[in-house]
Amino acid sequence: MAAPVALACDCGAITGRIDPSDGAHLVCFCASCRDVVRWSGQPDPGTAGVAYFNTTPDRLTIDTGAEHLACLTWKNRKLLRWHAACCGAPLVNTLPGPNPATISLHLARCAAPEAFGPPRAEAFRPIRPRHRGMRGVMAGFARRALAARLSGRWRQTAFFDPDTRAPVAPVRHLTAADRAES
Ligand SMILES: [Zn+2]
Ligand SMILES: [Zn+2]
Repeated sequence: MAAPVALACDCGAITGRIDPSDGAHLVCFCASCRDVVRWSGQPDPGTAGVAYFNTTPDRLTIDTGAEHLACLTWKNRKLLRWHAACCGAPLVNTLPGPNPATISLHLARCAAPEAFGPPRAEAFRPIRPRHRGMRGVMAGFARRALAARLSGRWRQTAFFDPDTRAPVAPVRHLTAADRAES
């Protein structure tokens, strides 16, 4: 296991750490990822895209402020976008349930983004090819999620109750009007 990387929301109420040893650094250029960042009151990433580290949830430990975790869906309701209710900082994307076990952590919340290496993949690029390296990322996602399922590690998640499999916070469905405020 590599040295854990510290993470925090903007106001510091939520703190934690992530093990960077098995996962993929990727950048998404889709409009939804950009809109969520802007709607959260963060600086507009513009055409730079939004950087994530995709791994399994057991590699993320929340040390303080778990009660501030909040959750919304945007255009794609199959993707839960977790953020800090205290300050609005976007934190993590997950699927609607604990399996397949996967998280995409916003690298902007990490103290040492360089620990994740250069981006291995890019999605929804403004130029062709639209996607670069995503096949490898999806293969890694499937391998990690299967291993987490078989080993029971999928239960180690800050975002779902492993018994009821429900999200730990109510899911807010953002409307078009909400999104227009961004
Ligand atoms: Zn995206
Ligand atoms: Zn905060």
